[in-house]
Amino acid sequence: MHYLTRQVAFEASHALRIPELSHKENYELFGPATNDHGHNYVVEAMIKGAVSNNDGMVINLADLDQLLRDHVLAHFDHKHINLQHPVFANDSHLQPTPENIAIEIWNTFGTCSNLTNLHRVRIYEDTALFADYFGKKRMVYLTKVYEFSASHRLHSQLLSEDENRETFGKCNNPHGHGHNYVLEVMVRGEVHPKTGMVVAPESLDEIVQKQIHSRFDHRHLNLDTPEFEDLNPTSENFVKVIWDLLEEPLKPIILHRLRLKETPRNHFDYYGELPEAHCP
Ligand SMILES: [Zn+2]
Ligand SMILES: [Zn+2]
Repeated sequence: MHYLTRQVAFEASHALRIPELSHKENYELFGPATNDHGHNYVVEAMIKGAVSNNDGMVINLADLDQLLRDHVLAHFDHKHINLQHPVFANDSHLQPTPENIAIEIWNTFGTCSNLTNLHRVRIYEDTALFADYFGKKRMVYLTKVYEFSASHRLHSQLLSEDENRETFGKCNNPHGHGHNYVLEVMVRGEVHPKTGMVVAPESLDEIVQKQIHSRFDHRHLNLDTPEFEDLNPTSENFVKVIWDLLEEPLKPIILHRLRLKETPRNHFDYYGELPEAHCP
């Protein structure tokens, strides 16, 4: 089976606002997103399918682009979503969050007659926040991206000095080295009918700040953190340490996947101890 992804971008404005609530109450719920503002949105359509014998393609990209223009860009690009989108403008209780926009794109673009094999809609509100929808009821996967800096030394207490040098090479430098770690936190859940959210991005920020940044940002993992007193701070170990620090405080929100990028050239995904079948 092949999976093909095509990206389009649009610029639109929106506001998150429950009509019955005062501005102050809306502000408490949505923060500054309750004011009119806009984003450079990016949409990714992932198409699943078999390759045609005739043309060697899953779908002709020119045809896909036309569908995206007709069923996505026509409704969103350079519009105020709350006021001008045919669905959101008709339902002031449907909040134009990335979660609901992903569902809406699936419902219009994904069900148009020429497209039967949409696998995933991803929408980026900005580079650090995106929502994935697979057409399963109201289940959406929301991801926020965080950065922090830390130094470490790869060194296992189960190996001799020589073995450590041999195994980890320059990463075994006794004085350590450092990274700008990038952490993608993907949670999943049903979109709340009132707020249009799986989780408020601000509450996710608070938990990550308290559990991760306050422990690891601008620290030496081996020397400054009890988590790595006896544990080699490889990214495999680190991503599990982060999982264990986030899973409980996030509840009832379900942590779905962590992706830890140690450098732009490598990243480490962890889904907890669940079977691989849960990976989207
Ligand atoms: Zn916004
Ligand atoms: Zn390193």
